[in-house]
Amino acid sequence: MRTARLKMLQDAMQRFAGLPPEVFFKEDLLRLGLSLGSSGSPEGSYQKKSYFIFSFDRTPIREMHQQENLRAPEEIALLGGPFGLRRTIVSVRLNPASPYRLEQTSNGFALLLEDETVCRVEFPPEPPHYRKHLRNGKSASEIAPTIEWGYLIYLTVFRRCQYVGSDQECQFCDINQNYEQQRAAGLPYTSVKSVEEILEALEILASTDTPTRAYTLTGGSVTSTLRGKSEADFYAQYAAAIEKRFPGKWIGKAVVQAMPEEELRKFRDAGIRIYHPNYEVWDERLFALLCPGKHRYIGRQKWMDRILAAREVFGASCVIPNFVAGIEMARPHGFDSVDDAIRSTAEGLEFFMSQGITPRFTTWCPEPTSELGSQEPAPLEYHLRLLEVYRDTMEKHRLDPPPGYGPSGAGQAVFSVSSFMDVLPLDVLPSVTTSETAQ
Ligand code: SF4
Repeated sequence: MRTARLKMLQDAMQRFAGLPPEVFFKEDLLRLGLSLGSSGSPEGSYQKKSYFIFSFDRTPIREMHQQENLRAPEEIALLGGPFGLRRTIVSVRLNPASPYRLEQTSNGFALLLEDETVCRVEFPPEPPHYRKHLRNGKSASEIAPTIEWGYLIYLTVFRRCQYVGSDQECQFCDINQNYEQQRAAGLPYTSVKSVEEILEALEILASTDTPTRAYTLTGGSVTSTLRGKSEADFYAQYAAAIEKRFPGKWIGKAVVQAMPEEELRKFRDAGIRIYHPNYEVWDERLFALLCPGKHRYIGRQKWMDRILAAREVFGASCVIPNFVAGIEMARPHGFDSVDDAIRSTAEGLEFFMSQGITPRFTTWCPEPTSELGSQEPAPLEYHLRLLEVYRDTMEKHRLDPPPGYGPSGAGQAVFSVSSFMDVLPLDVLPSVTTSETAQ
């Protein structure tokens, strides 16, 4: 006896037969969130959710009556079950009211959808550096958490954003509110991590048996200065210090605003190899409404021009702008129909991919303390059609999977906040080819 939602998913699998079955559950989990129920925790240690930048939850911490925020795993691996799922890594977004929940069984944990078993679930092992501390007492896991099943070190060195308030903050983003809720919950959450703290945490991490392959340097935007430095100088100093201490050990990536070439060269000279100038949403009207700070301080046209110009610094394949998949359907400003939303975003993908740039995406999860507030996410159909368009546009322009995300392909991908890597062909690790244009 199939529940209504599982029946809907099975119908969708027939309709979108070219997509791997794993992504139907992955995208649905990312948009709806996961309930931990009263499942308890597995025996032994596992990697807990670090809140590495945003909350990515459908519920604020104050409403988590079973302290789910303290026991949630960072990610889960789906595997097996009646659908024979290949190993699929999914970021955990908490929602006690989700139709998806974890349940402890005699064989470990299972994922249930409205009481029907979907598959087995594994929790990520706790990284060896997570129990260690810096000399100042801070936890190495707070300073240098890892995600993507250990592939990526996520260095949010500035946990706030200088776009503040409803007329500046990106309307879907809860970076500032998440900082406040973590502090209100009494959790250690460093506003600005010092270069010394980052280096010490990485020393600890590097002294362990670690599978990490890349690091991301990121945080909120800097509109004036931070600790006396411009945004480029502030973030590039971390890359310079990391690359000096650990030359070439990891692929260095930076998520910062769209900057002029001379600023970007500071990152390139410091050792950053991949640049993520996130444009968030393609539609011009929605960019102004959803990203009012970026619209006012930089402007959409300049943002797009700078993305294209960045090819001269990093090489086209290493300029990888993110957009928030589904945000173009958010109330009250978004498109009403999936057709219109896909048409718009497909135009953006064609624009970038025809010029050698491979965007990527993060599946939108409505965060209740963001300006957009708690609301319905984009329909699952939107996400499935987007994955088709992404895969087909990549193929049309003969682009390789973007570097710095680990392997592509269902059963191999580790990127956990979208299925875009799961739908690309099975691949060995893509290489970082910065030599193609970077001088
Ligand atoms: S620039 Fe926008 S998305 Fe980025 S941290 Fe600031 S408010 Fe959030």
